[in-house]
Amino acid sequence: MEFHCNFISSNGCGSQEWHGPLRNSILVECPWCHSSSTTLRYHLVGGNIYTCTFCGIGFVHPLPSKEALSEYYNDDYHFSLEKYLPAYRRRAYRKFNELCKRVEQKIKPGRLLEIGSSYGFFLDVARSRGWEIMGIELDAQACSFCQKVMDLKVYCGTLEQFTTEKQFDMICMWHTLEHDSDCFITLRRVKDLLVENGLLVLTLPNVGSLASRFNGRHWEWAIPPAHIFYFNPGAIRQVLSDLGFREIETFTQRGDARNLIMEALVGFLKRTPLSRWARTICTQPISDSSGNQGKDYVNRLHPAYRLVETSTATVSWFLWPAFILLNHLGLGEEILLFARNRCLKKK
Ligand SMILES: [Zn+2]
Repeated sequence: MEFHCNFISSNGCGSQEWHGPLRNSILVECPWCHSSSTTLRYHLVGGNIYTCTFCGIGFVHPLPSKEALSEYYNDDYHFSLEKYLPAYRRRAYRKFNELCKRVEQKIKPGRLLEIGSSYGFFLDVARSRGWEIMGIELDAQACSFCQKVMDLKVYCGTLEQFTTEKQFDMICMWHTLEHDSDCFITLRRVKDLLVENGLLVLTLPNVGSLASRFNGRHWEWAIPPAHIFYFNPGAIRQVLSDLGFREIETFTQRGDARNLIMEALVGFLKRTPLSRWARTICTQPISDSSGNQGKDYVNRLHPAYRLVETSTATVSWFLWPAFILLNHLGLGEEILLFARNRCLKKK
């Protein structure tokens, strides 16, 4: 149920619609601009998503604790990636090669840090193209894979724990920032770690996308507590500008999202009683038992899912001019961002 309010009860919003001021209500403050002009956008099983009407940033409130997030990720978050690894790897290498080519139009290969390097596929591609690579990854299983199988330099821990004397020519985060409960502290640290004129490159979900607008709470990337922050291109540009980054460019694209017709179909199904049936067919057993939206992994390798996906992708292919227009209008599902660290550092 979608509803709007600036106040929530001290024990959090329930699933009931809000009709007026609540007794013992508290203000929900935007974690970036500290405005209390915020709107409860979606009440989901994994958390309440608010939007700041001043800066446009979406955020989960209350912010999940580090312990809760650690428990969430340790439970089963990496499970699906491990299962998808072979198929994901092929796609990832193609995608990251294209991304590297695009990055190298702006900067020559140098020292590179990837925050949230996962199973190391991007680092592997970058290394093969002449970058001196370093990764940071929280997940012990992914770290071990990077170090033992991929022979990559990866620090296992958080950015906060990571220490280095060196600075980097480029720092990248692929769908990482939105998972980070300290995302603004992270961006400040990134700035300190970049050389003068160094490049920050990000991909992250676009909450202003067409898919997000028409699927609302059923949008595939509205998944608290995994996704804690929700940016549109204007909001992330403003944050980085306020932090002192310059030459900030954003583009929108489909990226890692489903094709738009598939997304519309899934969004429609989720609004109907067929939702439970579709979920039984296409999700992993681990999410069937919990029914928790935050852990609701769609099994993209399931034959039924692949059949529908292939069919909708074929239809989508004929609509490519429309998607180019959507991306041009900033309505694509994924934001790709470039920003320069232009400020002189104090020694
Ligand atoms: Zn704000």
